[in-house]
Amino acid sequence: MYQIIPRKYRPQSFKKIVGQDAIVATLKNSLLSSRLAQGYLFCGGKGTGKTTLARLFAKALNCAHLAPDQEPCNTCPSCIEIASGRSLDVLEIDGASNRGIDDIRQINETVGYAPTSGKYKIYIIDEVHMLTKEAFNALLKTLEEPPPHVKFFFATTEPHKVLPTIISRCQRFDLHRISKETMKEKLLFIANDLQASIESEAIDILIDMSEGSLRDAESLLDQLICSTHGTITTETMATTFGITPKEIYQDLDQAIHASNLAFAYDLASQVFSAGKDLSAFMDGLIGHYRNKLKALIKDKNAEPSFSLEQCLYIIEFLIEWGYKLTKTPFKQTGLEIILLHLIRSGKRVSIDTLVHRLVALENNLSAEPSTAERPSTLLKEVPCPVQAQPEKPEHKKAADPVPPPEKPITRSTVAKSHYDTLIRFAAVELEGMTER
Ligand SMILES: [Zn+2]
Repeated sequence: MYQIIPRKYRPQSFKKIVGQDAIVATLKNSLLSSRLAQGYLFCGGKGTGKTTLARLFAKALNCAHLAPDQEPCNTCPSCIEIASGRSLDVLEIDGASNRGIDDIRQINETVGYAPTSGKYKIYIIDEVHMLTKEAFNALLKTLEEPPPHVKFFFATTEPHKVLPTIISRCQRFDLHRISKETMKEKLLFIANDLQASIESEAIDILIDMSEGSLRDAESLLDQLICSTHGTITTETMATTFGITPKEIYQDLDQAIHASNLAFAYDLASQVFSAGKDLSAFMDGLIGHYRNKLKALIKDKNAEPSFSLEQCLYIIEFLIEWGYKLTKTPFKQTGLEIILLHLIRSGKRVSIDTLVHRLVALENNLSAEPSTAERPSTLLKEVPCPVQAQPEKPEHKKAADPVPPPEKPITRSTVAKSHYDTLIRFAAVELEGMTER
C-alpha cells in the first residue's frame, strides 16, 4: 500500500526522533521513574515533531511490554491501535476545528470513564492555542483535578496564546528547530530507502524551501520522487516547483556589477512572460542575497563580490518592497523598479565611506597649527554659511570651488566658511542615508 512519506517515515520509537535529544531523555526518565505530570505542553514550529512526540509518549505510557530502554514494543494491541489512529484510549483533537466550549464539554464528560485497554486515557489537543477563552476555562477545571488515569497532551506553535493558568499546570517542552544537517541526513536516508537518487544541492534547496519543517521537506521530497524519472536534480526541481534557475540570479549579480540598468527590464519581462510565481521569484532572490551575506560573515574563504553593506541594503530593500509588490496591481512595473534599485545599489556611497571621508577631512584640518577657531565636534552647530556670507553667493561658488577629495584639504586651501558648508552637506547627506 502506498503511504505518503511523512506518514511512512513517522518515528515509531524514541530513537527515531531527530533533533530533540534532551526532550526524549526527559520523557524516558519520567517513564522510568513513573513521575508523571497531568498535562504536557509541546511547543515548537510547524513540522518539528510535536504531535509525533506526543503520540509516541502516549504509546509508551499505554504499552503492555515497554522495553527496558522505555521504547514502546509496537506489537501489543495498544501500540498497534495508537499507530493506526484507532485507539479508544488515545484521542486526538484538532484545536483549530474543535475550538468551542461544547467540544471541551464533550471531553469533560468522557474523562470519568476508565480506559478500555491501556493504563491511561490520553487526550492530545493539537493547536491548543486556537481554543476559545470559554473553552480554555472549561478545560482548566478538568486540568486542575483530572482523574488519575487521565493525561492531557497539548501541542502548539504559539505558546504565548495559551492561558498562563493552563501552562502552569503542564510540564512544558520547547522543541528545537531541526538543524539543516539533521534534516539532510533524514531526507537522504528516506531517498536511499526508496531507491531514489537526488543531488545533494537539490536537497539543500528542498530544506530551504521547507523553512525548518521536516514534515514539509518530506512532503516536497514525496512530490519530487513521484514526478521525476531518474535522478532528481536542481533542474528537475525548478520545473516541478517553478523555481527560478540559479543562473538568472548570477546574471543579475553581473548586471549589478556592470551597472547594467537595461537588464532590469529584460529580467522582469522574462519573469512575467514565463508566468513564474512572483512571490517564489522574490523568495529566491532574497535567499540568493541571504546566502551571500551569510557567506561574507561566516565563510572566510568566500569571494567578496558584494560588500556587507550592499548585501544588507539589498536584503532590507527586497523584504520591504517584496511586501509592497504583493499589494500593488502594477506588478511588472513594481518588479522593474525593484530590480533597477538593486542594480543601482553598487553606486550608493556607504555611511562608512562618508564618515571615513569626514574624519579624514577633520584630521587634515586639525593638523594645521592654528586650530583655535575649529569646531570641537564634527557635527557641531555652526553658523549657516549663507547667513555668514550673504553677499553674492553665485560669485562665491565660482571663486572658491570645493577642492576635489583626492587633494589633501587643509586650512590654507579651504576657508572657514567652506569647511562649515562641507560639514553641513555631509550632515544632511548622513541624515538622508539613515532615513532611507
Ligand atoms: Zn506496546
